[in-house]
Amino acid sequence: MNHIFSGTVQEFDCIVIGGGIVGLSVAWAILEKKPKVRIAVLEKEDGWARHQTGRNSGVIHSGIYYKPGSLKAKLCREGNRRMVEFCEQHGIKFEACGKVIVATKPPEIPLMEKLFERGVANGIAVRRLSAEQVLELEPHVRCLAGLHVPSTGIVDYACVSRKLAELVANRGGELRLGIKVLGFRQNLKKVLLETSNDPMSARWIINCAGLHSDRVAKLGGADPGARIVPFRGEYYELKQERRRLVTNLIYPVPDPQFPFLGVHFTRMVDGSVHAGPNAVLSLKREGYSRASFNFRDFMDTMTYPGFWRLAAKFGRLGLEEMYRSFSKKAFVRSLRQLIPEITEQDLVPGEAGVRAQALRPDGSLVDDFLIINSPSAIHVCNAPSPAATASLEIGRMIVELIPEFGDDLCV
Ligand SMILES: Cc1cc2nc3c(=O)[nH]c(=O)nc-3n(C[C@H](O)[C@H](O)[C@H](O)COP(=O)(O)OP(=O)(O)OC[C@H]3O[C@@H](n4cnc5c(N)ncnc54)[C@H](O)[C@@H]3O)c2cc1C
Repeated sequence: MNHIFSGTVQEFDCIVIGGGIVGLSVAWAILEKKPKVRIAVLEKEDGWARHQTGRNSGVIHSGIYYKPGSLKAKLCREGNRRMVEFCEQHGIKFEACGKVIVATKPPEIPLMEKLFERGVANGIAVRRLSAEQVLELEPHVRCLAGLHVPSTGIVDYACVSRKLAELVANRGGELRLGIKVLGFRQNLKKVLLETSNDPMSARWIINCAGLHSDRVAKLGGADPGARIVPFRGEYYELKQERRRLVTNLIYPVPDPQFPFLGVHFTRMVDGSVHAGPNAVLSLKREGYSRASFNFRDFMDTMTYPGFWRLAAKFGRLGLEEMYRSFSKKAFVRSLRQLIPEITEQDLVPGEAGVRAQALRPDGSLVDDFLIINSPSAIHVCNAPSPAATASLEIGRMIVELIPEFGDDLCV
């Protein structure tokens, strides 16, 4: 693709694309290690954390779910510890309230046992609970048995992101809102970026563009080997007078075939209680309502062989999720498996989020975080949940991937 670069070129050592929690964590981690690096963070919206980071469940995950040895398992566990430390250090409201995962049907018991073993393998503190012990923690839950994971917590990740932006600015980082990256051009020593404003150049580009990370990687000539498919997660909120039905966090045993955790109850740091999210295919990458549609995003999904292979495998499940999206009754039915007293009248619609999930051409979902290197760029191409929890560790890991941070890059 040929782009015309005109205007004054502003030079940096490193440019981070994307002002979600991952991009801001990367920028902060770089400045922590090398305070003199000239760094800029470019964000196309007029505020930080406007997409996945500002529209999620706000859970500081423990790391129990992830395959031992995976990046998710390693970075989530340590990320949990560092997120808590970061919040304590900077006065950000959080709670290490713990969560329960409950089995409500007999076939879920062996799956829950596997989850327990996985938690132990990942070094997570986890305790088996009888149905009576679950009632002591969550008096309105009806189940056969459960697990308690005390290290799970809650926080507002948009708040964490704003603090990170402040820290980056305090260390001399350039924060640019309202600037969209439109193109890359590589010469021997640096990368030129075409933006919606003046062009910029840097020795290193870090792509943390979330729902657009695959497209940005391609602008930079990298092939992520996967395409982002957007899955909207819709929430309901419990009416204030019914919030007492949920003490902390209540999750079902996840279906191991499915990459998402199943609709659950989450108490947020502001005291509200969210129920959800489901997972429906979104026809727009940054589309937060059922009516959201973008022709390019839609065609990108529909013309991708990986999508049709995924649909062949999970078609029925996908249709059930769509039904649950349109039918409040069906949504409530799922929630009642956890808390039978919940009724339709207890819930009002909440905000939705869209997950950036990378999908391979063979129809398999990229399970782990996917971070790829090219000569002058690092592309974070799959950073779904628990990437907010793991963000500070993802930042630290990316710093280690930049070889010359010791010499010529740092003045
Ligand atoms: C419904 C839902 C629930 C979730 N729950 C949890 C949870 O409880 N706990 C947890 O740990 N994780 C959770 N996650 C996952 C978590 O939110 C994400 O993993 C994390 O926020 C990813 O951060 P990010 O910075 O990579 O992406 P984003 O927050 O999406 O940020 C990417 C940024 O890049 C910008 N951008 C894109 N293209 C360009 C361009 N060309 N130029 C300039 N800027 C650009 C976008 O505007 C955006 O601000 C959830 C996600 C969803 C959607």
